[in-house]
Amino acid sequence: MNLAPLWALIPGRPGVPLAKVGGFPEPTGLLNWPVCAQCGEPQQFLFQLPHTPGKLDLSPFGSVHVFQCQNPETVCFRWDADSGANATVAVRPGAPRVEGAPSKRVPQAEWPLNFAPAQEDTAALSVDVNEATDAQLEALDRALDAAPESKVGGVPGWLNGDAAPMCCEEPMRFVAQLSAMPFGLEFGDAGRGYLFRCTQACEQPFRFLTQGA
Ligand SMILES: [Zn+2]
Ligand SMILES: [Zn+2]
Repeated sequence: MNLAPLWALIPGRPGVPLAKVGGFPEPTGLLNWPVCAQCGEPQQFLFQLPHTPGKLDLSPFGSVHVFQCQNPETVCFRWDADSGANATVAVRPGAPRVEGAPSKRVPQAEWPLNFAPAQEDTAALSVDVNEATDAQLEALDRALDAAPESKVGGVPGWLNGDAAPMCCEEPMRFVAQLSAMPFGLEFGDAGRGYLFRCTQACEQPFRFLTQGA
């Protein structure tokens, strides 16, 4: 077993500055509050991560902010990377300010986040479930149990099979994963959210999707 280092995202005060779930977004520059492309309602702010040298390279951006539609009167495809019912807002360093209409819904509970050293079995987690042997599937289950549920770096711990998005005709690079619990996020039943980045210089560099039971 070859264990690769990464950073677990764990709740706790004081937390890494500007790394958090919930509350109101705290950008490193100008953030335009996104609306849902399907229903037009301002999206709910979920979490944000800052550029953190040596741990999380977001350059040239200072922070990335993830939102999703939580309009209870619609069935917008908020789990989908390309539906426009969730949003990733990459912010360039500058004078921090928020423009656009914020969500009128009650914000998600606020949780400061810390980066903690962790490791996971990359090979076991990267197996193709469609071609895996029984032994490989057992190893995958063990590796999923042992890997951090929320993390930056490493490989995605898929609940429903590999769904890495494409951008600019290339597979996107995995950035971070956030578990719905303990944060109380709405990613389906005990779901997970996955943040990816385009490998090319791209107008819309990040993408977010979720999987739940
Ligand atoms: Zn919507
Ligand atoms: Zn792209």
